[in-house]
Amino acid sequence: MSTESTPAPEPSDFIRDIVAEDLSAGKYPQVVTRFPPEPNGYLHIGHAKSICLNFGIAKEFNGVCHLRMDDTNPTKEEVEYVDSIIADVRWLIAGWADHVLRFKRAGDSDAQRVHSDSPEAEPFYASDYFQRLYDFAVELIRAGKAYVCDLSPEDTDRFRGAPDKVGIPSPFRDRSVEENLDLFARMRAGEFPNGARTLRAKIDMSAPNVWLRDPLLYRIRHAEHHHTGNAWCIYPMYDFAHCLSDSIERITHSICTLEFEVHRPLYDWILENLPVARPRPHQFEFARLNLSYTVMSKRKLMQLVKEGLVSGWDDPRMPTISGMRRRGVRPEALRDFAYHIGVTKYNGVTDVAVLEHAIRSDLNRHALRRLGVLRPLKLVITNLPEGYREDVEATNNPETPEAGSRKMPFTREIYIEQDDFMEVPAPKYFRLKPGGEVRLKYAYIVKCDELVKDTDGRVIEVHCTADLESKSGGPTANRKVKGTIHWVSATECMEAEVRLYERLFTEADPEADGRDFKSCINPASLEVICAKLEPSLAQARPEERYQFERLGYFCLDHRDAAQDRPVFNRTLSLKDTWGKAAQKA
Ligand code: ATP
Ligand code: MG
Repeated sequence: MSTESTPAPEPSDFIRDIVAEDLSAGKYPQVVTRFPPEPNGYLHIGHAKSICLNFGIAKEFNGVCHLRMDDTNPTKEEVEYVDSIIADVRWLIAGWADHVLRFKRAGDSDAQRVHSDSPEAEPFYASDYFQRLYDFAVELIRAGKAYVCDLSPEDTDRFRGAPDKVGIPSPFRDRSVEENLDLFARMRAGEFPNGARTLRAKIDMSAPNVWLRDPLLYRIRHAEHHHTGNAWCIYPMYDFAHCLSDSIERITHSICTLEFEVHRPLYDWILENLPVARPRPHQFEFARLNLSYTVMSKRKLMQLVKEGLVSGWDDPRMPTISGMRRRGVRPEALRDFAYHIGVTKYNGVTDVAVLEHAIRSDLNRHALRRLGVLRPLKLVITNLPEGYREDVEATNNPETPEAGSRKMPFTREIYIEQDDFMEVPAPKYFRLKPGGEVRLKYAYIVKCDELVKDTDGRVIEVHCTADLESKSGGPTANRKVKGTIHWVSATECMEAEVRLYERLFTEADPEADGRDFKSCINPASLEVICAKLEPSLAQARPEERYQFERLGYFCLDHRDAAQDRPVFNRTLSLKDTWGKAAQKA
């Protein structure tokens, strides 16, 4: 079976235009991009957009892309997050852009680049540059362009002012170079407590852009770092570390989200005022992805995890890459989605239905068809002998004929979906009803003759006669009946736990009007049932995707599947019933 999806047209957007121009003008010999997550949580679908953009550009322009841990904040970062980020990036680019992913040699701080498949390969770490960043800071001090400031964090904020309010220079702004060098060395040596002093760039306290009002470059944090241990007790700020890390790695196009646009003058100021390699990297900004019915910041996702509102970062309802993978989404679908939504400078909210559409159309092409019954009702075919059994032929995927077909046991007793029978049918109900006929997919037309009820009057069995000539190839095979329903053999099926997922939030904007997003968690976002599945699903493989016909897309849960009873996750139902219900309401 083919695993290639229809190739999307090569995307074009303002960033790609810039890259193309820069390359044709000979500004850089090769494009080098980077994806720089902070390892303080798991990656989400917003990061997927950034990964597809950075790796996509490297791929389209014969460049490379670095995976860099932007790890300058020791108190929030953990190795667990580093590992999950590497796994998620590799999964998302697998078979598409692996060849442009560049790693460095483990333990090498010199950005010595190696191929990502090398056994000693590891991602780049901003923390590997701590010594070099420190040396750069000393150079700024020597040049009279940075100073040690003793203002408290509160006073630093207050003195900075606001766009409409001028800043007040720090009383420590004019310290001598010697005093600054001495104090900075002592900050590093651990002589001062957290918050006692900072290193600040000396730029312009009356700049309209507040980010240029003597921004912090270093702060004191007596904390162990996941990568550098206790080697440091001062840590560089994002703005200082990021542009210099880009420069050290010879990044050409440093692509980030729009909120960093106001930081760009500082990015450029730092690189202009230090003897860094030329040509310098440049920062470009694009609009972040926001999705309806979703929260998309690691901080909020962390709350869902910590408060037990989901089962973990990879809960299939989470908008994390690992959650979507566990739910059965294929990387191709996320990449198609990222291409489809494009790259712009306008912040907006993308309807989650667009993402779901990309997932469905990918799965429609790639999922193997199987039969399963979620809420079983027994159906007995009375004109077949006790113990009757035959194999019927079922198509694996009508979208890809090369997927072939399989044999499925058909027996005298089968299960159908409770929904597919109505004792008192609604108007235009074309499924099974007393006296009515329906086709059993891949098998016979059956007619409902009799009902068996329990003492409460509930139908527990439906007795039918089959038109034994109506199977495919038979004399009455083409006889038209309005409904076709799915089924499984009652005597040759397997049981499985099936987890039915819905959107995690009931509101399109979970935070509208300042409401706590946790107040609109969908109580029906997970339903666990015991389903009856066709026996071939005993061989289900975690990396395979299935369509249970008429029900939706499912995959084996790769985490809980090892137990005696398999677990299947529903990725999505076949149609967007949610959208329809919302339209009616
Ligand atoms: P969050 O706010 O979710 O914690 P972040 O921006 O702090 O995200 P980082 O780890 O710093 O997360 O992000 C790594 C990269 O991913 C950055 O370049 C950032 O611009 C990009 N990114 C983060 N969120 C989105 C998003 N929603 N859409 C597109 N790109 C994003
Ligand atoms: Mg961040």
